[in-house]
Amino acid sequence: MQAARLHAPGRMLVEDVPRPPPGPHDLLVRVEACGICGSDRHMFRGEYPTAKPVTLGHEFSGLVEAIGDAVEGFPIGTRVTGDPNIACGQCEHCRVGRPNLCAALSPIGVMRDGGFAEYVLVPAAQAAVLPPDLDPRHGAFCEPVSCCLHAIDVARIPPGGSVLILGGGVIGLLMVQLARLAGAGTVVLSTRQAPRRALALELGATGVADPAGGDGAISVMLPAGADVVFECAGLGETVLQATRLARRGGTVVLFGVVPEADRISISPFELLTRELRLESAWLNPLTHRRAADLIASRALSLDRLITRMIGIDEVPQVIGAAPVFGEIKVIMTR
Ligand code: NAP
Repeated sequence: MQAARLHAPGRMLVEDVPRPPPGPHDLLVRVEACGICGSDRHMFRGEYPTAKPVTLGHEFSGLVEAIGDAVEGFPIGTRVTGDPNIACGQCEHCRVGRPNLCAALSPIGVMRDGGFAEYVLVPAAQAAVLPPDLDPRHGAFCEPVSCCLHAIDVARIPPGGSVLILGGGVIGLLMVQLARLAGAGTVVLSTRQAPRRALALELGATGVADPAGGDGAISVMLPAGADVVFECAGLGETVLQATRLARRGGTVVLFGVVPEADRISISPFELLTRELRLESAWLNPLTHRRAADLIASRALSLDRLITRMIGIDEVPQVIGAAPVFGEIKVIMTR
């Protein structure tokens, strides 16, 4: 089968590899769609540890082609999505329902072969069934949506409350929709690109702001600050902005991945006396099934987030290049 494999930083090749045989507890999934995530670009550049060589791709959906001897409940041809984040299941974090903190995490598309291929192996325990008539490209959103759902869970948005989202990439635009579904009355998105701001309004944002204007426009819309601020840009400056624009007693959720070496200067006095709740949301502990159900319910608008579809041959070039201006989500389809 064909697979897009990372061999070394900057060196990714589409090549023929053997089709993997399913182990007793595995599904062999024929990939229909696999999304490109910003982390694929980090892995390509060697900024995030991976196995090597490895087939990248952790946002995928497809059809069950074959099953291991011990697998039940996944008839051949079932459309599924796989939660790529495979935890050990034994450590103290796994046992208390926080598998995202497992030190032995071995994600599909990072530490084991992933979805930029004709087939991918998925342990049955990691798979969620999707409706047969669901657009497989929508199935490829289950992983990012599951991460966003964890952030929504930790945020504890008060019904009717106000939410500010900093960063209008695919994550910020999903958060807009999820915050509304979670009961937020006011949802403001700050992002630089005007078409994304227009799209956010169509997706349910009640207000938008251009960060070039500083905090002013947001403060007009949220004079007391936001009940919850989601940092989804992955920048030190927006982390600081999040702490400034949360209301007294409000919550800041760190979601964007700020480069490891970056540092910010923060006032503990400010955080303390405004009693800010600082949260972080990492990966998707036990939220993948819910993400699949939510996407299956068609409650999310996903077509507007897909800006390009590519074939497997194009995957290395697209992952190796900077994101194209205006692009939101690129999906490999087969
Ligand atoms: P992305 O496309 O890079 O989105 C971030 C967006 O922030 C950019 O596209 C940019 O859009 C906007 N931005 C840049 N500077 C800004 C500023 N000063 N103020 C407001 N917005 C600004 O990435 P993504 O896929 O949406 O993901 C968002 C972040 O979440 C990334 O850091 C990603 O690594 C992280 N992530 C975390 C998890 C987790 O489990 N915590 C899971 C998935 C992804 P404009 O050009 O429109 O400004």
